Amino acid sequence: MSVEVVRPRHTGFCFGVRDALELTRKALEEDGEVIALGQVVHNARALEALESQGLRQAEAMPSERGSTVVVTAHGATPALFEEARGRGLKVVDTTCPLVRRVQRHAEELGRSDEVVVVVGHPAHSEVQGVVGWAGSSGAEVEVVSSLEEAAALPERERRGVVCQSTFPQVRFREIVEVIRARSGEVEVRDTTCPVVTQRQREALRSLLAEVDVVMVVGGRGSANTTALAETCAEVRPTHHVESAAEVLPEWFSPGQKVGITSGTSTPAWVVDEVEAACRAL
Ligand code: SF4
Repeated sequence: MSVEVVRPRHTGFCFGVRDALELTRKALEEDGEVIALGQVVHNARALEALESQGLRQAEAMPSERGSTVVVTAHGATPALFEEARGRGLKVVDTTCPLVRRVQRHAEELGRSDEVVVVVGHPAHSEVQGVVGWAGSSGAEVEVVSSLEEAAALPERERRGVVCQSTFPQVRFREIVEVIRARSGEVEVRDTTCPVVTQRQREALRSLLAEVDVVMVVGGRGSANTTALAETCAEVRPTHHVESAAEVLPEWFSPGQKVGITSGTSTPAWVVDEVEAACRAL
């Protein structure tokens, strides 16, 4: 069976993940052993390569003074940085500048508004970090990830709103409208990541119109990959795969056009392998 493969211009790592990995590699070269507070990349093979260089992943902070810890591209709470300083740890901060921007806006709104709403997934480490910055001067913080949750918010006089960087912009705007209906005055800071928005737009405007079936490549733990797969699935049959080994011939028919896109934390070589697997069908 042969299929035609269509791949948009932007796939593979975004600059935030690429730079975070570069800083982690540099820390490994300098310090030998480095402890990552969370997953530095949502790809098993990329992670294994770093682990073979001395990376260890931990949920809790090490107690040994002088240990090197990496804060991932998703960022962390101000309390975590303080605790690390207090323990005498060396902190390699690889927070993406666009996540740092969300944190700065959240912190600013927290100083001037009564309540800060963070639109995003509460279990995601970026959101947990942003909540920490929003509440750092004592503001009340609410987290919502759906229209239903926004509709259940109590009525308030004033609210400030920020968004998890990788949250789909279209859904963010819909949620903001519901928040407006529950609040007097609302200050909205659209902190969605333009790289993620561009991939969503690229998929919707060109890729989906052109293809019969879509492959979205990326870790299942990656929020932006999952959101991209959901967007594609609304329009075309879509398969979210982590690697080429997951590509199944029964998903395709001869002569079909297959679109391949990826999340921002997916290495380009993994997308290349998926493309090669589709071409070899
Ligand atoms: S997806 Fe956007 S916010 Fe997240 S790491 Fe990449 S550039 Fe930064």
